[in-house]
Amino acid sequence: MVSFRRLVRSVFLVDLIKGLGLTLWYTPKPAFTFQYPKERRPVAPRFRGVLRLQVDPANGAQTCIVCDQCAKACPDDLISLGGHREPGQKIKVLDYFDFNLSRCSFCGLCSEVCPTKPIKALIMSEDYELGSYSRESQLLRIDEMYDGVPIEPYKR
Ligand code: SF4
Ligand code: SF4
Repeated sequence: MVSFRRLVRSVFLVDLIKGLGLTLWYTPKPAFTFQYPKERRPVAPRFRGVLRLQVDPANGAQTCIVCDQCAKACPDDLISLGGHREPGQKIKVLDYFDFNLSRCSFCGLCSEVCPTKPIKALIMSEDYELGSYSRESQLLRIDEMYDGVPIEPYKR
């Protein structure tokens, strides 16, 4: 049975008038359109894009200390990394860093536990163009993990 309130709304076209009001409210405002891919919409400060490794911007040195915390924190076991120790060096050299992007839920746990300061070695970047045509290209190796790597255009 139709309630009295609903009946009154239907008779007086309340929902229709509300909808038209909203349209009128937004019509004089400039269009909120970006000419993607020429223009990219700025992302929110805490946006979680694809994982990236960061180097020290001052000298390009590795900031990852190969502690393995990110790999242990990942609930889906998507990160695998390893390194070796060089004589006289304080931190290990990062040999490989494999990341399976295809199954990442962008939870950010791996980046959150990364302990390096003041530069976090592992960040959730602003890159969001993640589509590709093969599963293999979703497995990112160390060279593709560094921040600022160019985004590959789609190729069929
Ligand atoms: S964002 Fe979450 S799911 Fe993705 S690699 Fe990090 S911990 Fe794993
Ligand atoms: S948590 Fe950070 S420092 Fe540790 S292995 Fe992962 S990226 Fe490197």
